[in-house]
Amino acid sequence: MLNIVLFGPPGAGKGTQSSKIIDKYSLIHISTGDLFRKHMNENTVLGQSAKRYIDAGNLVPDDVVIGMVEDKIRENLDANGFIFDGFPRTVNQADALDIMLKTHGLSISGTIALEVPEENLKNRIRERAKTSGRADDQDDKKINNRIAIYNNETAPVAEYYKKQDKFAAVNGVGSIDSVFESIAEKISSF
Ligand code: AMP
Repeated sequence: MLNIVLFGPPGAGKGTQSSKIIDKYSLIHISTGDLFRKHMNENTVLGQSAKRYIDAGNLVPDDVVIGMVEDKIRENLDANGFIFDGFPRTVNQADALDIMLKTHGLSISGTIALEVPEENLKNRIRERAKTSGRADDQDDKKINNRIAIYNNETAPVAEYYKKQDKFAAVNGVGSIDSVFESIAEKISSF
């Protein structure tokens, strides 16, 4: 299996690049943000409990996220592989992911980190806010909070994968196709 973590701050283009990666490599897309938004739209118990964290731009507690990802992996063990998008966001989640994959005889093949300067991120999210309907895209305070949480809690996950020699950085500024080309090049080295 080809199991990829697509890593990067909010607005880096993870969702956009994920759909291209899925098309090329036929992987199962596990986007924790998309899964939460689906739960919120369907007003499930999980959606109701996650909403207050998400709308404020805070992280949903680890145990909730980890359980949701575990279910998705278990449902798709016959897949070509997985792309994890927006997960893991804490070192604790990264550890849990390694353990759950190991249970199924699997492991992470590599991590792709999309690097985009902070000003570009903010502009992209402000642009996306016009159509996304996402409460957490709507004001600068929430956007700044999400970026600060990324810097404090999620950035250390990069070190976690660097230590395992499973980390590749890609410049996330450029056309969708040129960024994707750089990603595909990295994936071919995994
Ligand atoms: P995203 O679509 O990846 O930007 O995620 C939207 C929101 O969902 C985040 O700001 C968090 O509130 C929540 N979320 C998504 N993935 C995670 C995660 N791995 N851990 C904690 N919260 C998450």
